[in-house]
Amino acid sequence: MPATARVRRLALALASAALLAGCAATPTTPSRGTGKLIVGYEEPRTPEERAARAFLRERRILEDAAAYADARIALPHDVPLRAARCEAPNPFWSKATGRITYCYGFVADARRVFARAAADDAPAERTPAGDDIDEDVVGLSHGVVFHELGHALVDLYDLPVTGREEDAVDQLAVLLLASGDERHADYAISTVNAWGALWAASEGGDPGVAAYSDVHSLDGQRFFDWACWLYGSDPRRFADAVDAEGNPDGVLPRDRAALCPAEYRRIDSSWRTLLAPYLKRGGSPGP
Ligand SMILES: [Zn+2]
Repeated sequence: MPATARVRRLALALASAALLAGCAATPTTPSRGTGKLIVGYEEPRTPEERAARAFLRERRILEDAAAYADARIALPHDVPLRAARCEAPNPFWSKATGRITYCYGFVADARRVFARAAADDAPAERTPAGDDIDEDVVGLSHGVVFHELGHALVDLYDLPVTGREEDAVDQLAVLLLASGDERHADYAISTVNAWGALWAASEGGDPGVAAYSDVHSLDGQRFFDWACWLYGSDPRRFADAVDAEGNPDGVLPRDRAALCPAEYRRIDSSWRTLLAPYLKRGGSPGP
């Protein structure tokens, strides 16, 4: 399905949403902890890993994500955010090591996902636009780093979670991205696109026991959830996300879209309540 191209319609005018960072206007107790994400790079061994490290460094992906999070949320102590070699190329938080690992292999994997989606959307073009794909990899990388930051916060502050933790930390990632500037909204759209591409790649097949029993929601569910929450963060700005009269290419069914603003408000207030002691006073919604 060509959802990946259609979701791009979400990118509209910048709005002045404050949302999670609205703590700037809300009296809070002093932040606990002075910790922040500390970016590091394991020595790469293969050409692909070296290319991934160069890409990450040139784009300052991890550094920018760390600074963005640091402007908003205090950690109890410094937490490494480390680019590293991984057996499976999926970024992860480890409670045991107390660190977030961003896998070098994730860069090439993400690039393949976006390239395949671009080729499906525009098969006539022999080569998908590399710059667009790189931008999507940058965006998705922010999405996954903030997702892993959510896991870290749950463990480090022993935050209560009911329901799937994976969904809860997806919600935090959307909040962080949607409450920033237009660039960060684009990062959220790239992440929506990734879920759409992964879903499209498997559409028609039974996800199977591994996917149904997994701790994560299915790719298609994450696609609609991310799209819903981003739309819900500012329905006027993201109006083109909705499948409506005059906009049949919108990705969100109207019945779900009607619920999204309330879903987003609940997510926003819940995370703000959970993180209230740790939100930085004076944190601004964007750079
Ligand atoms: Zn997770």
